[in-house]
Amino acid sequence: MHFGLIGFPLKNTFSKQYFENKFEALKIEAATYSNFPLESIDLFEDLLRQNQDLNGLNVTIPYKEKIIPYLTEIDAVAKEIGAVNCIKIKNKAQEKELIGYNTDAFGFEYSLVNWIPKNIQKNALVFGMGGAAKAVIYTLTKLGFSIQLVGRTADASTGKISYDELTEAHFKTATLLVNCSPVGMSPNDQALLPIPYQYITPAHFCYDLIYLPAQTLFLKSSAAQGACIKNGLEMLEKQADKAFEIWQNID
Ligand code: NAP
Repeated sequence: MHFGLIGFPLKNTFSKQYFENKFEALKIEAATYSNFPLESIDLFEDLLRQNQDLNGLNVTIPYKEKIIPYLTEIDAVAKEIGAVNCIKIKNKAQEKELIGYNTDAFGFEYSLVNWIPKNIQKNALVFGMGGAAKAVIYTLTKLGFSIQLVGRTADASTGKISYDELTEAHFKTATLLVNCSPVGMSPNDQALLPIPYQYITPAHFCYDLIYLPAQTLFLKSSAAQGACIKNGLEMLEKQADKAFEIWQNID
């Protein structure tokens, strides 16, 4: 069994070590995991030709959306989200079948519902509107949350407001805050998400998709206001576990 990760650049990635530890723990000696840094998605088909033994791939920045035209099938959740971070490869006699999934949404949901109280008021602020936010928005909507999108620029077509439009009222309405932007991610640890921290209270739950550093300045500043905080490590582990489950399913 051969698995791998495509993205670019692939520096300090989590997946290879995580899967190698998993293969060792499960005593799956025949499994290997490779990093495939692709400078362009146009190189994807060459990669498949050169690695005929591949059974599955993880997909990371910047290809979660660009990979979609290369797939033979996309599962319903990934289709609705519009992003794929896991591919199952079926090596048929004549051709390969490439089926795309989104396991970020599963990882986020798993880590969120085990953390927030069941009776939390279902309003959330989501910061940053990129690929990861799409999986977060899908999950929060599925769980019944109303979402206020916040980013660097307002966008009337999606209802996104800019950071400087945030008022105390937004923080009174929403108790769940989710950072889906890369602000504060290592090596830019000193970058602070530009929100009015004085309105964050012990009633708030602040989730950062970033896992390196373990506590971004967004999380540290929110904790200083008494909020409950959580980083993206559990989401990362659960999306990887789900990908492995998908690869192992024989159908
Ligand atoms: P992305 O597409 O590069 O950026 C997401 C959004 O963040 C952008 O669309 C932008 O939204 C905002 N943004 C980007 N640069 C910014 C800056 N300098 N200042 C303020 N806002 C900025 O990234 P992504 O793929 O969605 O990932 C976002 C973060 O989630 C990354 O840190 C990634 O490592 C993390 N992540 C974690 C997991 C996990 O399993 N824990 C999974 C996926 C991603 P606006 O234009 O709306 O401001």
